[in-house]
Amino acid sequence: MLLRLRKNLSRAELEAVLGLARELGYTARFLEGSKELLALDGPGAPDHRARFEDLAAVSGVLDAGDAHELFERRPGRPDTVVRVGDAAFGGGKIALVAGPCAIESYEDTLEIALAVRERGATCLRGGAFKPRTSPYSFQGARTRGLETLARVKLETGLAVVTEVLDPRDVEAVGEVADMFQIGSRNMQNSALLIEVGKAKKPVLLKRGFAATLREFLLAAEYVLSQGNDQVVLCERGIRGFDPSTRNVLDVGAVAHLKRVTHLPIVVDPSHASGRAELVRPLARAGLAAGADGLIVEVHPHPETTHSDGEQAIDPEAFRQIAADARAIAALDGREVVAPRAQGARR
Ligand code: PEP
Ligand code: MN
Repeated sequence: MLLRLRKNLSRAELEAVLGLARELGYTARFLEGSKELLALDGPGAPDHRARFEDLAAVSGVLDAGDAHELFERRPGRPDTVVRVGDAAFGGGKIALVAGPCAIESYEDTLEIALAVRERGATCLRGGAFKPRTSPYSFQGARTRGLETLARVKLETGLAVVTEVLDPRDVEAVGEVADMFQIGSRNMQNSALLIEVGKAKKPVLLKRGFAATLREFLLAAEYVLSQGNDQVVLCERGIRGFDPSTRNVLDVGAVAHLKRVTHLPIVVDPSHASGRAELVRPLARAGLAAGADGLIVEVHPHPETTHSDGEQAIDPEAFRQIAADARAIAALDGREVVAPRAQGARR
């Protein structure tokens, strides 16, 4: 590891760095002619970088060496493939997740689930618990929403991706969810990240709308550090200054993340744009940048919904997106995982 120290350190400050190095089993030496560049040789562990970074004497870690974090792409380490029901994310496999923003009636949920399954989705999305900006907005059907998801999952065979907002709900949501969704507003809720980490079930972690990519990856690290390596990152747009779109899809982030982490990444073109007519082009852009999947809001009657109706696409538009996904996947030798042959259930 290579540390940059602050200038003019006191003896006590320097001793704090050297003491920690000894404690963790590193030998320390200043690079020739320097009092600021301290090279450490030693074991390397995911938490060591942060232990040094936290010291007041350390202004930065220039090279983490072997003290790599669990999310890092390392030479020879294969891409993580996260499997959720019939779906697979990563390692050349692309998954399509589709469904309403919020779970409302059973009839609508079933109609949407059948429509998206028929058009290529392997996972159904939909929030029973909704993180709304206003406390007076619809907060989700909650327990009744979970019951609806459980019924629709049984009838369609689709895997369920649904949001959990509170560590106290992880157990109840986990009884229905095949994949926990952690929303943008909760990306840095460490208690929640630890709890879904302990649940050892796939996690779809959405990027905070003002989070740097390192903050995003360290949020994933919370889940990984609990022994749960089934994390899929989700780029859902970050806050910009132009009100024409709800958010700004950070396509560069997708390409960058593919280089620095072995974790799969999906794109959410619905929340990124906030406008139904922009969902398809953003979905194409995300996949072309290397995304391992899409999560898309689909609703046949968007005028009736309590949340995000303006960005919901209809099932036919989803069919086009699924066709685009197959064409883009083929360009670089990847594959969109298709839903299993239907008929067994409904
Ligand atoms: C959602 O997926 O409906 C949602 C609330 O997304 P985000 O957390 O990205 O805003
Ligand atoms: Mn939504």
